[in-house]
Amino acid sequence: MRELRLYDVSVTVNRDTPEWPGDTAYSSSWSTTIAAGASVNVSAMTSSPHVGTHADAPLHVHDGWPGSHELPLDAFFGRAVVVDVIAVDGEITLDMLERSISGDLTERIGRAPRMLLKTGNTIAAGHFPERWPTLSEECARALLGCGLRLLGVDCPSVDERESKELPVHRMIFSGNACLLENLDLRRVPAGDYELSAFPMKLMGMDAAPVRAVLREI
Ligand SMILES: [Zn+2]
Repeated sequence: MRELRLYDVSVTVNRDTPEWPGDTAYSSSWSTTIAAGASVNVSAMTSSPHVGTHADAPLHVHDGWPGSHELPLDAFFGRAVVVDVIAVDGEITLDMLERSISGDLTERIGRAPRMLLKTGNTIAAGHFPERWPTLSEECARALLGCGLRLLGVDCPSVDERESKELPVHRMIFSGNACLLENLDLRRVPAGDYELSAFPMKLMGMDAAPVRAVLREI
C-alpha cells in the first residue's frame, strides 16, 4: 500500500517566531515543573492569534461580523490547489493567476475550491517580510465568482503590509469564503492536495491558530 504523504504546512511557533510589527508576541513559561517538586509540568502562553499559521475571522476587519468560533469547518477541509506565484512582484493579476494554474479558473476552482498561494515570503524563514505579492481585487472577485471557499497564503496577510483598507480580506469575507495566513509552503510543489486546517474553537476572537496539513492526492 502506498504511504500516506502528509505535508505539515504550519509555521513552528516559539519565542523567535516573528509577530506582525506591534502585535503581541508569542511567549511561554512554566507554571509548575516536576523538577521543582510539582506532580506535573504545566506551561502557560501569551500570544496574538495571528502569530503562526492561523485563520482570520471576519470580526478581524468589521465589528459585528462573525468571530473565530463561527468559522465554518467545511471551508478548512477538502480539495485545495497550491499555486506558485513566487516570481510575481506586487499585484497578482487575473492573467498571471490563470497562467500560473495553466488552466481554466472556473474548472480548477470547481475541482479544488481552496487556493493556497506560494509567494515565498513565509515567516518560517525567520524574519518578518518587508513586502509580498497580493491578489488584485479583480482576481479575488473572479475567484469568488468561481465558488472559492478559502484563500490561503504563505505570507503574513492577504493584503499588502501597509494596507489600511484591507480590500482582499473584506472581499473574501463578504463572499462567504475564509482565509488562512502564515502557511509554510516551502517544501510543497504546486498542484492538487487535500487540506486540513481546522481553527481552534476559541470564542469570539478575531483569528484562531490552525494546524495546517496537506495530503498528497
Ligand atoms: Zn491574520
